[in-house]
Amino acid sequence: MEFETTTDSAGNRVKKLPPSVVKDIELKNHARRLANLSPIRIKVRTCIACGTMFESAGNRTCGCNTRSTGYIAGREII
Ligand SMILES: [Zn+2]
Repeated sequence: MEFETTTDSAGNRVKKLPPSVVKDIELKNHARRLANLSPIRIKVRTCIACGTMFESAGNRTCGCNTRSTGYIAGREII
């Protein structure tokens, strides 16, 4: 199992999703299949904040800006 960055076929560094998140998506996809919904796809995309390639389940940043932003009681603090 890989937990950290990996390299794609073009030699780019790609941030992997944590295994717990992948597992969560798999569970959701199982439920979505039963409900005849299209599954959530994990795609490699470029972070809009720092430009790093990362595995995304729909989010647009790799998580690099969550530390500076942060959430308190569900509210985004800038
Ligand atoms: Zn980023």
